[in-house]
Amino acid sequence: MWGERYDFLVIGSGLAGLFTSLTLKDRGRVALITKGALEDSNSYFAQGGMAAAVGQGDSPDLHRRDTLAAGAGLCDEPAVDLLVKEGPQRIRDLVALGVEFDRWGGQVHLAREAAHSINRILHVDGDATGRGVCTRLIEEVKQSREIDVYEGHFVVDLIMTEGRCWGALALRNEEYRAFWAPATILATGGVGQVFAETSNPPTATGDGIALAYRAGAMLMDMEFVQFHPTVLYTGGDKSRFLISETVRGEGAVLRNQGGQAFMGKYHPLGDLAPRDVVARAIWTEMQQDARPHVYLDATSIKHPQDRFPTIYRRCSEMGLKMERDWLPVGPAAHYTMGGVYTDHHGRTTIPGLLACGEVACTGIHGANRLASNSLLEAIVFGQRAALAAEKAASGKMPAPRIPSLSAMANRRALQRISWHYVGLERSKELLTSALMKLEELGREEYRGTDGASLEAANMAVVIGLMAKAALLREESRGAHYRLDFPDSDPSWCKHIILQRGEDLAFRPVDKG
Ligand SMILES: Cc1cc2nc3c(=O)[nH]c(=O)nc-3n(C[C@H](O)[C@H](O)[C@H](O)COP(=O)(O)OP(=O)(O)OC[C@H]3O[C@@H](n4cnc5c(N)ncnc54)[C@H](O)[C@@H]3O)c2cc1C
Repeated sequence: MWGERYDFLVIGSGLAGLFTSLTLKDRGRVALITKGALEDSNSYFAQGGMAAAVGQGDSPDLHRRDTLAAGAGLCDEPAVDLLVKEGPQRIRDLVALGVEFDRWGGQVHLAREAAHSINRILHVDGDATGRGVCTRLIEEVKQSREIDVYEGHFVVDLIMTEGRCWGALALRNEEYRAFWAPATILATGGVGQVFAETSNPPTATGDGIALAYRAGAMLMDMEFVQFHPTVLYTGGDKSRFLISETVRGEGAVLRNQGGQAFMGKYHPLGDLAPRDVVARAIWTEMQQDARPHVYLDATSIKHPQDRFPTIYRRCSEMGLKMERDWLPVGPAAHYTMGGVYTDHHGRTTIPGLLACGEVACTGIHGANRLASNSLLEAIVFGQRAALAAEKAASGKMPAPRIPSLSAMANRRALQRISWHYVGLERSKELLTSALMKLEELGREEYRGTDGASLEAANMAVVIGLMAKAALLREESRGAHYRLDFPDSDPSWCKHIILQRGEDLAFRPVDKG
């Protein structure tokens, strides 16, 4: 049998994959596969920080309440309990691994973000939290003898037999390579790149969701995508630089083309309203003014270069001084609440396949994620998945076959379909058009080795699933907004389940 054999196979080197690998290393041999360099992940670009109830006056219960409020009735409460209760211990684990959270006056500094009722965001190097945390964990992974790292390996398919997963098939330099393991952990992150406007780096193409779906795993909440209100508008079609919410937390104000601070019109919390409200308000103002952006006025923030060094530097590169200029900003796809359904131990509905981090859907985010809960999710549920992964399993490992996939080359066309038809505002007409346009793009059976085509094929699968679920959900809730059904409907307080070859199904929200 060709290929490599391991006890555990971890796919993805974001925070979820790194933390899971480090948790697994004392339990067996680990292969950590990632399609770019170890640093290529959403996690590495995370700015604001990690939410955890570690400060004075805070408690898991308060964190829980804020998480549930953001989730708009769709959070699975026992999963949220695990997140908020185990979060502080996992933060201590990171500190034990050598992560240095920012301290002011001898105390860990806790920042504020939208929809948090208290300051609870831990951060590293001001606004470079992801880079700070990942760099330390990457050093640790590289030093570990039990973890073999495979960079530049694009996983194209799961190895399945009789409904069980036995590893994955990866493509490197146009050659296929099999990785065998009784436990495979998907940590492949989100889908931001399927949209024309996104804060996500190029790796976030939803591969893990497409792989799991093809293999028959259950998916949940695919209609819920969070749009971040403020990415720096720079024109062109590259991924956008994020202006963290903590900038508004520190007093920055959104203004329209006329210079009016408009958020007070839309929500009592003004500029610190929930993300979906702010993103849609900006979208409305952009359409009214027929401009591709609004402005973020951060001129009131003292010493922005110290508090937001990364953002400050990027703005300066564009000739913008935060203390002087208003920054052109607009919304962009940012975070995927839905994904591969897992239980509280990261187990998917496929034996041998686990998932954690943004690719997974544990139900903790409901219809909308509370800011800075996702890095925390990556470590809380990454650890849980690692502990549940079985080193040994009985059964005969199958021989791998080169998969026959539907490939599609036109990435940009796909991104435009999502942005215009499955974006911030949806309707029956728009979503039906999305599905028709996907069909028109056409697909062909493909057995080649062109990674870009295979990636685009995954994107097409993900867009189709999002559009299907969004069309079905005839209400507005959290990040999902239907122009033709602008209100929430209590009868829709349930999860939509999608599974290949199965009828559409619903799952009740777990209220504990
Ligand atoms: C700009 C930005 C700022 C953010 N700021 C914050 C913040 O302040 N706080 C917060 O909590 N969250 C933040 N988020 C969200 C957060 O970063 C992500 O939700 C989280 O990092 C996801 O971690 P992950 O490990 O699940 O996935 P990722 O970090 O995205 O990692 C996925 C990994 O899988 C690999 N991969 C994907 N497909 C394949 C494949 N087919 N084969 C092999 N490898 C593959 C990728 O290359 C990557 O290494 C931010 C996101 C962005 C984009």
